Amino acid sequence: MNLPKKVTIVEVGPRDGFQNERQFIPTEKKIEIVNALARAGLMNIQVSSVVHPKAVPQLADADEVMAKIDRLPGVSYRLLAPNMKGVQRALALKPDKINLMMSVTESHNRSNANRSIEESLKEFETLVPMILEKGIAVSGGMACGFGCPFEGKVAVAQLERVADRYVAIGIKGVGLADTVGFASPKQVYDTVAHLLDKYPDVQWLLHLHNHRDLALANILAAMQAGITQFDAAIGGLGGCPYAPNAAGNVATEDLVNMLAEMGIETGVDLDALLQVAEMVRQVIPHPLNSALLKAGKPWILAKAPDCQTKIG
Ligand code: ZN
Repeated sequence: MNLPKKVTIVEVGPRDGFQNERQFIPTEKKIEIVNALARAGLMNIQVSSVVHPKAVPQLADADEVMAKIDRLPGVSYRLLAPNMKGVQRALALKPDKINLMMSVTESHNRSNANRSIEESLKEFETLVPMILEKGIAVSGGMACGFGCPFEGKVAVAQLERVADRYVAIGIKGVGLADTVGFASPKQVYDTVAHLLDKYPDVQWLLHLHNHRDLALANILAAMQAGITQFDAAIGGLGGCPYAPNAAGNVATEDLVNMLAEMGIETGVDLDALLQVAEMVRQVIPHPLNSALLKAGKPWILAKAPDCQTKIG
């Protein structure tokens, strides 16, 4: 198997997870969870999203969370921003990185960002230099990269259209997302192998939802093609407005466990991470989509029953 020695995990639970919860998670709890995630060894955390509070009321406290978390040295604390207003607010909060976000299909970008693909790209042309000038790193997202809830299949040309512009604007890190959990391993392998080949200077990251239980299989396929950066959410948080009962993102603890079992380094302490997953379980009023929370760590052996001697 062609596997990397090391994988970088970006924790997105505090943003992608909390934004999908019906019940508001108290701000202090969000802060506690972000701090615990960093202490568990997650060096990259998407803390929140700076969008209009009416659009995402769950993350209306982004400014307070960002201001009050401990900023551990070496940890990259990121904010997601879809437009100029969001970036202006984000810059004041001094994140280490701003994740710009748009969809690769016209109808999803219109429904999500209320603008066309061209309008998003045009605005990003202004935003990228603004962000870089402040010494803040920037990345560009590609939502619906493997399928769209309105348009179905997504052609590679649609990814290239956005990737070409990202490269021209000066975006070096691109997050390719399976927003609605349509992707399957061969599709992921073929798509990312092509993109890695065509854009060798881009640092690709995959954001894979687990709506159809294929996220870990997709990650394995992506690693074989050469991808070494993945988003994941503690407790498998994150929902899907188009499949309300579906699972969320791949659970960080499930991903860390799989990689550890395969001898791939992540720098994350699985025991500490499971404690954070427990903290999350306390504040989320529904079962979490985490295999490890249900089954526990592997190789914890049970005591063999002594029934044989009793029979004798
Ligand atoms: Zn997502």
